[in-house]
Amino acid sequence: MSDTLTVDTARLPLLLSELRLPTVARLWPDFAERADREGWPAARLLAALAELEVAERVQRRIQRHLQEARLPPGKTLDSFEFAAVPTLSRAQIAALAAGDSWLEKGTNILAFGPPGSGKTHIAAALGHALVDNGFRVLFTRTTDLVQRLQAARQDLSLSSAIDKLDKYDLLILDDLSYVHKSQAETSVLFELISARYERRSLMITANQPFGAWDQIFPDKAMTVAAIDRLVHHAVILEMNVESYRRRTALTRAAATGDTAVSPDAVAPATRSPTPE
Ligand code: ADP
Ligand code: MG
Repeated sequence: MSDTLTVDTARLPLLLSELRLPTVARLWPDFAERADREGWPAARLLAALAELEVAERVQRRIQRHLQEARLPPGKTLDSFEFAAVPTLSRAQIAALAAGDSWLEKGTNILAFGPPGSGKTHIAAALGHALVDNGFRVLFTRTTDLVQRLQAARQDLSLSSAIDKLDKYDLLILDDLSYVHKSQAETSVLFELISARYERRSLMITANQPFGAWDQIFPDKAMTVAAIDRLVHHAVILEMNVESYRRRTALTRAAATGDTAVSPDAVAPATRSPTPE
């Protein structure tokens, strides 16, 4: 009897690795010993190991998705101060972070505000939360993605490059305003927007609202068509607040009596945001 047991368990590491069950492979000796000692029914042992394998598999998947998302580190909802952006509703952001139905419908999020208002932070924070909730996200500077898509177009592989981005439930394009039509062929951006329209979500951050988007797309008709598709199903986050960086620098300066940052350097909060 014990001979049979030795022979059977000797092959277990190999079998479990073949079946890709690393958690069971790691935990079964301790669990089996405990089961023998406490007289667990065999079914309970099997169920416990299966549950743990599944739980760890979910965690491993989230870790993989977190790596592929390329989110800027440290920008999470926990570290976002909502009081600094009164126009942003914490409840609305929490609902978006849950993922729910908006991603299924391909709804977009457009975040507008002057530099330093927290657009990148809130975009990354939403990305983080969505990955934690099981969704796939890619965070990229818009200019980087435009360059990648342009290269793909030169290789005649633009549509397959765009198709590959379909695996992401949410594509975060940070700083759309930094794309200029002088950067030849920004129409790749339009193709991306059209391809994802009503299917896959985009989150776009921009310093300038739509009025200035003529600078981004090759011609007026394309600008109008792009905006039309983006806003058709969209949540717009207005973040018209003074630069968080500047405000915190000022608060720090006031606390330490440092005069290097003068209050005059900070425009009144009521000022209408102008791109810097
Ligand atoms: P934007 O992308 O709008 O230019 P950022 O998101 O880069 O602004 O914000 C500038 C800096 O200030 C970042 O370090 C960011 O983490 C921080 N920050 C901005 N808004 C907030 C906020 N409401 N709470 C906490 N940190 C913030
Ligand atoms: Mg930014």
